[in-house]
Amino acid sequence: MLNFSFENQTRIHFGEGQIAAITNEIPLDAKVLVTYGGGSIKNNGVYDQVVAALKDHTWFEFSGIEPNPKYDTLMKAQTIIKEHGVDYLLAVGGGSVVDGTKFIAAAALFEGDDPWDIVTKQLNINKALPIGAVLTLPATGSETNTGAVVTRNGHKLPFRSPVVRPSFAVLDPAVTLSLSDRQISNGVVDAFIHTMEQYLTYSVNGKVQDRFAEGLLQTLIEDGPKALQAEHKNDLEIRANIMWSATMALNGLIGAGVPQDWSTHMIGHELTGTYNIDHARTLSIVLPAVMKVGKESKHDKLVQYAQRVWNITEGSDAEKIDQAIEKTEAFFINMGMPIRLSDIDLGASDIDVLISQLEIHGMVALGEHQSTTLEISRQILNTAL
Ligand code: NAP
Ligand code: FE
Repeated sequence: MLNFSFENQTRIHFGEGQIAAITNEIPLDAKVLVTYGGGSIKNNGVYDQVVAALKDHTWFEFSGIEPNPKYDTLMKAQTIIKEHGVDYLLAVGGGSVVDGTKFIAAAALFEGDDPWDIVTKQLNINKALPIGAVLTLPATGSETNTGAVVTRNGHKLPFRSPVVRPSFAVLDPAVTLSLSDRQISNGVVDAFIHTMEQYLTYSVNGKVQDRFAEGLLQTLIEDGPKALQAEHKNDLEIRANIMWSATMALNGLIGAGVPQDWSTHMIGHELTGTYNIDHARTLSIVLPAVMKVGKESKHDKLVQYAQRVWNITEGSDAEKIDQAIEKTEAFFINMGMPIRLSDIDLGASDIDVLISQLEIHGMVALGEHQSTTLEISRQILNTAL
């Protein structure tokens, strides 16, 4: 078995109307900076609910955090923080706003020369402003985890630290009703792939975590497509299942003590950094290829996945694996996602660029055995053509 320590201290307020809970979560004497994105929260009533909850607080706002948040945008928040002595951040939005706010929180108390070093040098961050989150897009798990991804000049890089984990998160499935089909699909598939990257490795210490993971995968397979169907468009039960699955997929629980393979995310980040493809739409292209290239190294887990998640009982192991990969691809297609580089108009000539970006970013030994070298990544991208 692998040893592990597990902690997740984010207090979650789940359900309709729970935005009101932020009133008591944030100290009354705090100077709060409300951070948000391009304005969806002004059209769906979320902003008004936040304003009502903060009516007795002192607060300021910072908007314009874009999808795949950019360093230059995030650094602009530092001026407001210094000017007003902001000491609490409230992120209101999707994963990009929450991730961006984590970087703002760490940068505000950073003592070095350039906060970009946090991601390029993977510095140990032990100070950050406290963060609360009102999540509007179930996908990333960022609202209760320690990770964030930031982009600068095409370099999309992750960092993590326990001090940027939000102290509380509001998860109100009702606020997800205003999501476009594209963002619902992106969220469901991102959560699905987070689960897969902590599951599809080799068995060690994983009986409980495996069964949690399989439950999450089956929930997303069942309810993801329903969320796109006209007759279920306003079904809060479905939205609640998706929202809770996405949080549970990346809050540390299913990953505790099990081997992990984040190669799909790391290769996907290069597709977003270089070609500005939506995060989840890179993953739905890369994961099937990772499964195909890993047919031998991931053999036992692929068979387990076929049997337990897709109920495939007929045929040889190899046939079960092939069927499971086909069903995974069919699920992504059903969710309106691309599954090949050609679906997003990329081809063989783009692979050299992606490989050189992986090399620049030190992504040269990925996977549960650190055996996904640049050569294997190239094989994965070739398989995804
Ligand atoms: P997002 O980039 O936060 O948001 C995508 C779009 O959805 C935005 O245009 C946003 O508009 C809109 N939106 C959000 N909530 C909405 C709502 N309720 N109604 C209507 N529109 C809404 O999407 P995301 O998938 O949550 O986050 C992706 C980012 O998270 C990527 O950078 C990815 O790399 C990162 N990520 C982080 C982790 C982690 O562990 N920290 C894990 C995986 C991925 P507005 O801007 O107008 O609000
Ligand atoms: Fe992700």
